[in-house]
Amino acid sequence: MSALNTEKLLFEEKTLYQPKFEEIKEVLSERLPKNFQDVSVEIVDCPDLSKAPYNLAGSGLSGSATLIEVGGPPYLLPTPDLSKVYDIKEIVQKSLGGKKCDVLAIGAGAGPFIIMNSNCEGIYNLSITKDGTVTNESYVGKVDGPEEKCIQLRVPKTETRFGLLLNLFACEGGPGKVLRVRCKKRIGELNFIESIRIALAEHFGEKCVGLGGAFILKSGKAKQHVMRNFSKTPLHTEEDLNNWLKFYEMPATLTALGTLITHENDLDLSLQHFHSFSNSNWAGHYHYDTTPDIAEYEGYFNIGEKVVRVDKPVNTHKVGRD
Ligand code: ZN
Repeated sequence: MSALNTEKLLFEEKTLYQPKFEEIKEVLSERLPKNFQDVSVEIVDCPDLSKAPYNLAGSGLSGSATLIEVGGPPYLLPTPDLSKVYDIKEIVQKSLGGKKCDVLAIGAGAGPFIIMNSNCEGIYNLSITKDGTVTNESYVGKVDGPEEKCIQLRVPKTETRFGLLLNLFACEGGPGKVLRVRCKKRIGELNFIESIRIALAEHFGEKCVGLGGAFILKSGKAKQHVMRNFSKTPLHTEEDLNNWLKFYEMPATLTALGTLITHENDLDLSLQHFHSFSNSNWAGHYHYDTTPDIAEYEGYFNIGEKVVRVDKPVNTHKVGRD
C-alpha cells in the first residue's frame, strides 16, 4: 500500500514565539522544584546525541527547528481510518520548506501498521541527507502473542511510511545551544513533560512556545502504553480507550522522543507526546514514572521556530490526548 500523496495534503503553519534560552532556564529553574526535589536547568552546547543512551539518528538539535503534527487521534478513534498512511520523508522535507539540507526527525506516533501487520506504537528517529538518503533508526512497540508481552522491533532502514498520527521534532541535526533539564525525585503529581509544559504555559501566557527533543528516564520505572491491534468494536470514550490500550510498567533506561507545545492554537494539536525505546524489549507511550523516590530524568530540548500541521482532522474530538 502506498502512502497518500503528500502534495494533496493540507499543510498549515504557525510561527511560534521564541523566547531566549535564558528566560526558559529561569522559568523552569523557578517552577520545576514544585514537582521535583532536585532540579538543574542549563544552557549547554548540545552533546553528540547520536551516542548512547540517546542513540539519535543525528548528533544535534539545531537548525530550522520545527514541530510537526500529522493526522491525529480522530483518525484512530472511534474506528481507524486505514487510508491514513503517510510518507515521513516527504512530509518532513516539505515542512522544512523544501530546503536542501540534512534533517534529523524524532518523535512519537502510531507505528507503520502496514508493514507490521498490526497496529503498534512508533518511536521515530531518522535522518535524511541533503541528497535524500533516509536512515531510519526508528522502533516499533507492539503487544505480542496471547501473553500480550511488550516487544520492541526495528523499522526497516529505508521504510518511510507511517500511519494515522504523528508528532515530530525536525531540524537540521546541527550543533548549537540547547536546554539540558535534569530532575530527580518527583514530589509532585505532574510527569516530567507536563511539569515543563505547564511551567512554560503559565509564564508565557498567550505566547505559544514549543519544544522538541529527547529525554531519558535514568532510574525507576514508567507507566507506558502500547496500542493493541485495531479494535473490532468502536472506541468512543476514554474508558473504552483505556481498556483497549495495554499498559506496562517499563524499567529504565528509557529514551523518549517527542514534542510539547503550550497551546493548540486553532490547529487541533496534541500538547505533548513522547514515545520511548530502550536497550531491552520495552517501547511505548510515556505517561509518568511510577517510582517517584528514585525517578531521575535528563532531557535535551530545543525551541521550535514554527509548528506545521499536516492533514488536520476535520471532524475532531478530544479522546486519546493524554
Ligand atoms: Zn503516543
